[in-house]
Amino acid sequence: MRAFTYAALPMRVVFGPGSLARLPEEVTAVGLDRVLVLCSPEQADLGERVAGVLGDRCVGVLPGARMHVPVEVARTARDRATELGADGCVVVGGGSAVGLGKAVALEHGLPVVAVPTTYAGSEMTPVWGLTEDGTKRTGRDRRVLPVSVVYDAELTTTLPVGMTVTSGMNAVAHAVEGLYAPDASPVVSLMAAEGARALVDALPRLVAAPTDLEARGDAQYGAWLCGAVLGATTMGLHHKLCHALGGTLDLPHAPTHTVVLPHALAHNAPAAPDAVAALGLGPDPARTLWELAGSLGAPRSLAELGMAAGDVDRIADQVLAAPYANPREVTRDGLVALLRRAHAGEPPA
Ligand code: NAD
Repeated sequence: MRAFTYAALPMRVVFGPGSLARLPEEVTAVGLDRVLVLCSPEQADLGERVAGVLGDRCVGVLPGARMHVPVEVARTARDRATELGADGCVVVGGGSAVGLGKAVALEHGLPVVAVPTTYAGSEMTPVWGLTEDGTKRTGRDRRVLPVSVVYDAELTTTLPVGMTVTSGMNAVAHAVEGLYAPDASPVVSLMAAEGARALVDALPRLVAAPTDLEARGDAQYGAWLCGAVLGATTMGLHHKLCHALGGTLDLPHAPTHTVVLPHALAHNAPAAPDAVAALGLGPDPARTLWELAGSLGAPRSLAELGMAAGDVDRIADQVLAAPYANPREVTRDGLVALLRRAHAGEPPA
């Protein structure tokens, strides 16, 4: 057993179908009684429903969350929270809604209670992001870590099948990189292996029956664990690539993770035999994930997400310019070859 440091993140988790009904007692349990509900415009109805469940503990609903948290959206939410005298925020939705709550927490210190409806995992991390003039800044701050997370699988049955698969793969990517992270530790690795297993098992069941509540619960359980891994470890080549592709070319978050993951894992697998074994996806987990994505109808090429072949060099330059943790050295030639394969939708190698 090698040496390690393990730091648990201080938060509560309430899990189970129908657990939205427990949100009022949860808000009270963490000391809040005037919360602002934040969600995306597409989920405004759900935001109103959550406000109804909260009753007089809710002072307003702001359905303004946007992908990558534009600073002006964050400012509007902060101003609204101040005007309404909110003492915290309840965020309901995917990573974009959670990100907006984190931005308010960063500036105002208002605690966040999260009700996630995708598998992105942001609710389990102290990582915030803000986008200004086309550039996304990210950072880590304990103040943005939600104080409580309510996982209600019933709220995920509306997630379209395509988004279900790509969001699930996004979560698996956290587990994969957590397993070979420089700050990996035994307990976190158990969570990563279990989280990936739960999602790989649940996703085909959800493609066959998107409203299967049992499978939704299993996927959400996997997403919780994978999100906790994301919050506890330092991500490598895969997340670096996705950050560059999303930030520079505005490619969609979860589909980009889905396409890149097999290629990043194929690159790193020779230097991470323990991670390969822990994943339990056979001797070639990169190929297994690539085939799984194909069988579930997920995108497998960056071209179909809108990337031009001519962008490969630009992205490679960006990834090589800033150092990041990774188990295997990344050369320029290796990176360009990886990106070309991912762009064309070829199998990982
Ligand atoms: P998202 O939050 O942008 O949601 C995508 C769309 O799906 C939105 O229109 C949303 O309203 C809709 N949606 C969400 N749940 C739904 C449901 N159950 N039913 C129907 N529609 C639903 O997408 P995402 O992939 O969850 O989050 C991506 C964002 O989160 C990115 O900006 C990414 O950088 C960020 N993120 C941050 C972290 C972190 O630790 N800081 C981690 C993961 C993701």
